[in-house]
Amino acid sequence: TPLSVSQYLRQHIRTVPDWPAPGVQFRDITPLLQDPRVFRVLIDAFVHRYMAPELRPDVVAGLDARGFIVGAVVAYELNVGFVPIRKKGKLPFTTVEETYELEYGSATVELHTDAVRPGQRVLLIDDLIATGGTMMAGKRLLEKQGAVVTEGAAIVDLPELGGSERLRAAGLNLFTLVDFE
Ligand code: AMP
Repeated sequence: TPLSVSQYLRQHIRTVPDWPAPGVQFRDITPLLQDPRVFRVLIDAFVHRYMAPELRPDVVAGLDARGFIVGAVVAYELNVGFVPIRKKGKLPFTTVEETYELEYGSATVELHTDAVRPGQRVLLIDDLIATGGTMMAGKRLLEKQGAVVTEGAAIVDLPELGGSERLRAAGLNLFTLVDFE
């Protein structure tokens, strides 16, 4: 029987136990990126969805750092611009920032103040949703600048951590391709 896109992608995601900390199952997408056939299936799945006129964004925003790899290629294929949302201290121009809580401590992400214009429709991309904190911070940053986040997209969702549920409860449309328990 033929594999679904989801099953095919899942087979090329490596699980590294206890990294970067004991108890974490790290879902490593580097094998997926490394194989040109699998990378193309991934990108085509996103491009196919976001080519549709009702879902086509004006801009793609990618979350530091694996969201850049996927987001930039999707933006290129859709013929729209790409904007990076970066960890604090990396963007050179004036920025807006959002701080969010992690299990231990907090993290801050930044966006250039001229990255999006009010009313622009933005597709927000990352590799994985765990607690949802990173994507929520990205959504807030874009909305602070008056943009409309039409959808959040990620390769992997970890539904047991509740992040995708929280993001949807906060009004974000979400599209993910692979679930890990
Ligand atoms: P969160 O903000 O908790 O949703 O975490 C999502 C961010 O952390 C994404 O940018 C992921 O790349 C990274 N991340 C969190 N947990 C994992 C995991 N188990 N495997 C791989 N990446 C992860």
